[in-house]
Amino acid sequence: MRFSAIVVAAGEGLRAGPGEPKAWRTLGSRPLVRWSVEALASAGASEVIVVVAPDRLAEAADIFKTLSVCRVIAGGKTRGGSVQAGLAALSCNDEQPVLVHDAARPFVRPAHVERLLSALSDADGAVPALAVPDTLKRGREMITGTVSRDGLWRAQTPQAFRLGRLRAAYRDWPSGEEPTDDAQLVERTGGRVVMVAGDPMLMKLTWPEDFLLAEQLAGSRRIVRSGFGVDAHRFGPGDAVMLGGVRIEHDRGLIGHSDADAGLHALTDALLGAIAEGDIGQHFPPSDPRWKGASSDQFLAHAAERARAKGALILNADLTLICERPKIGPHRDAMRARIAELLGLPLDRVSVKATTTEGMGFTGREEGLMAQAIVSVEMAF
Ligand code: MG
Repeated sequence: MRFSAIVVAAGEGLRAGPGEPKAWRTLGSRPLVRWSVEALASAGASEVIVVVAPDRLAEAADIFKTLSVCRVIAGGKTRGGSVQAGLAALSCNDEQPVLVHDAARPFVRPAHVERLLSALSDADGAVPALAVPDTLKRGREMITGTVSRDGLWRAQTPQAFRLGRLRAAYRDWPSGEEPTDDAQLVERTGGRVVMVAGDPMLMKLTWPEDFLLAEQLAGSRRIVRSGFGVDAHRFGPGDAVMLGGVRIEHDRGLIGHSDADAGLHALTDALLGAIAEGDIGQHFPPSDPRWKGASSDQFLAHAAERARAKGALILNADLTLICERPKIGPHRDAMRARIAELLGLPLDRVSVKATTTEGMGFTGREEGLMAQAIVSVEMAF
């Protein structure tokens, strides 16, 4: 189901102690706000509006510039004002579901989103909720009473709504009052808001000690995945070949629908493999005239964009080119630099190697050349 999302990251988070505003503190070497935004993008959001404090606009725009579904806007003085700014910025129609999420809950997963969207089929809103396991006391220093837990729930985010319903609820809300969550507005207008199973992992990072706990959880929820890619192209008439994103003068050319850069094709397949997103032929069908003679750097850049959208951090790439000629050595560093640029990696994480097959097989007879690549990424478990 198509859905949009608003991530509210404009608050100062004073209870979290001194330092950067909460959304900008790092968790597992990424700013907190990136966790939810990337998770919602990877859960399939067609649009993610990130609402930040006005003085953070430039920084946030830079962080999310490679995530094409994401748009950064300035928020209001209150949380409600920020959500309203987000609602105004959404481009989808009123029937589409919208998820409103607090940046301070970094561990949102696709399963949470699926649960909310399916509950929305016969409700105006859906909220993840947890029962209260502890005994509840009322008082200041001294206890003045014990509160029954019966029928009490802890509401989390993301909360899901029909966009039109939430917009109308915000229009009707009395000015000067500040709702504590978005469900409250829809409840007030008589909307049907249902609860779905919450998750302790959707905890809100509020106090300094929450960040310590989250740091441990963040480390345990990321794993390294690798993908492998192979490609071969046949030699034909020509005076140059494209290999590893670099043009090399040669007494022959390479035949292919695109520019036949087997090196970038193998890397593209390796990266798509690491994130389990099919292969290059699915993303760029040879039957599509748009890719005739196309420069292959856009294939690898597209795979890198898909990886980022899934919240994957590319760790390294290793490419092996198998041919008798042309000689790769003189062009190795230029290829590494171009591949590093396309993947957004530092140079020392990109390797280009070359070998021959000692005159054996199709590469040995110089009928064509072959490339093999491995790419590793770090992503959520
Ligand atoms: Mg190819």
